[in-house]
Amino acid sequence: MTTCAELTSYCNELLEIGIFKDYCPNGLQVEGNSSIFKIISGVTASQALIDAAIQHKADLLLVHHGFFWKGENPILTGMKKRRLKSLLSHDINLVAYHLPLDAHKTLGNNVLLAEKLGLTLDHFFADNDIALSGSVKKQTGKEFKENITHTLNREPLHIDADREITKVAVCTGAAQSYIEKAIELGVDAFISGEVSENTWHIAKENNIHYYGAGHHATERYGVQALGEHLAHHFGLEHEFIDIFNPV
Ligand SMILES: [Zn+2]
Repeated sequence: MTTCAELTSYCNELLEIGIFKDYCPNGLQVEGNSSIFKIISGVTASQALIDAAIQHKADLLLVHHGFFWKGENPILTGMKKRRLKSLLSHDINLVAYHLPLDAHKTLGNNVLLAEKLGLTLDHFFADNDIALSGSVKKQTGKEFKENITHTLNREPLHIDADREITKVAVCTGAAQSYIEKAIELGVDAFISGEVSENTWHIAKENNIHYYGAGHHATERYGVQALGEHLAHHFGLEHEFIDIFNPV
């Protein structure tokens, strides 16, 4: 057992939340019970994940995508009211880590995805080291697509280029705009979660492979690793729940 205050202050320090300029608050977002025995983790604090946390009698729901995004309507009606009411009426803490959990050097989404894809890490780049590059053994774009499909259990969108792949850049989630930074680095391929209309043209005109491997699919590993780490550190129960999202 630990307290929510102890757990969140440990995480805030571990993930160095102070150095990030983020689009949402990192750390405790909705206060529940102060005693923590059981953590449920998941990618996004959707109603389905909150319902699962209630069913599993969680004290704390740990997510990558929480609430209170910059620029969104702050009024708590409809869907937001229902989500909050479910959390508050069951005394469940909502704790969210966004950019700090993408960038973390051992528990981050990028590092863990790169590891699963068999990349040898070269270096981190972009603001707060939010992206990374690495090397793989030489392969075709099609072979690398198969590698991603197999690893994520989901076929990525592949914008093909006329070059073999040894250098790869990775930035999970909605980081397709970092393709230009990847081009500057001179990598053969860039993997992110989502895709935009202009990603096609930028990739084609710069002859770089682009893989849109899914925002949800590329961001399942960080929160799972953090949940496991906390369970071990504080002696808690932890379970990751993957709620289907094809985007
Ligand atoms: Zn994300």
